[in-house]
Amino acid sequence: CAKREGRNRATAFEPRLREAQLARIGIRDALGLAIAAGQLALHYQPQVCARTGRLQGAEALLRWTHPDLGTVPPSMFIPIAEEGRLIIELGRWVVAEACRQMAAWHAAGHGYVRVAVNLSVRQTRDEALPAFIDHVLRTTAVPARCLELEVTESVLMEDTDLAVSQLARLRARGLQLSIDDFGTGYSSMAYLRRLPIDKLKIDMAFVQAVPGEGEAIASAILAMADAFGLQVVAEGVETTAQRDFFRDAGCQHLQGYLFGRALPATEFAASWLVAHGTPGAPGDDSGRHP
Ligand code: C2E
Ligand code: MG
Ligand code: MG
Ligand code: MG
Repeated sequence: CAKREGRNRATAFEPRLREAQLARIGIRDALGLAIAAGQLALHYQPQVCARTGRLQGAEALLRWTHPDLGTVPPSMFIPIAEEGRLIIELGRWVVAEACRQMAAWHAAGHGYVRVAVNLSVRQTRDEALPAFIDHVLRTTAVPARCLELEVTESVLMEDTDLAVSQLARLRARGLQLSIDDFGTGYSSMAYLRRLPIDKLKIDMAFVQAVPGEGEAIASAILAMADAFGLQVVAEGVETTAQRDFFRDAGCQHLQGYLFGRALPATEFAASWLVAHGTPGAPGDDSGRHP
């Protein structure tokens, strides 16, 4: 009968399901200890000006080195952290570490490099977030305009009012706000207008479909951004053809392996802040208005 068949099917899958569940729990528990154990680090990927190729800022990307598992990619552990409050703790660590690093670069004479951090949807609903960010900016003495927050369109899907008002509060303090992976979500233009944002980051999938079908989508996003007075970043730029397309289409910022991968802070400083000149250094005012 159907019932028995169903049960048989369930038992056949059970061991693998349980294994997957245990692996998730294992990762969650290990991740909970990762901050205190010093297993987390931020790597920095350059963002350059589309016209000049000069450094404009960096995106901070979280890296976790587990003693047994080795490097665990964010695609593997961020979704697990997002299931609970752990993402709040991780996200705070990311903000604090990015600001600590900016202050250290500043003290080393590199000027303030604008750093973008990724915020998970759950963090935008943490009512203590604006006060936490204020506290970090105050204690590190990093100007608010040097910190950028990247959120995905999914902040617009649920509890919109709280998230929007929190983001608006932060932006009113001078922080920059961008929409990550733009074009993959469901945000309508009406919703987009409600969001207090500065920038759109065109999703890598469209960028990598250039030359080809990505061109029409990218052009439409650029036209819309222009009409709304938003800046645009093309992310995942890997070829010179993609670079040329986006530069000629009026996209202001580029990010991708063509320019550089995310690097540990010391390597980022050595290859980008020293070799390529420092934004905000004497004679260069590109960094003074990041
Ligand atoms: P994202 O924020 O969209 O970050 C861009 C991802 O694309 C990064 O992967 C980056 O290394 C990769 N990438 C950049 N340029 C290229 C390119 O030219 N080609 C290709 N193939 N890939 C490129 P990563 O570091 O593995 O991060 C994946 C995602 O994990 C991020 O996507 C973000 O959603 C999430 N993530 C990373 N760090 C954090 C964090 O601190 N907090 C939160 N909430 N999420 C994070
Ligand atoms: Mg991002
Ligand atoms: Mg993205
Ligand atoms: Mg993403």
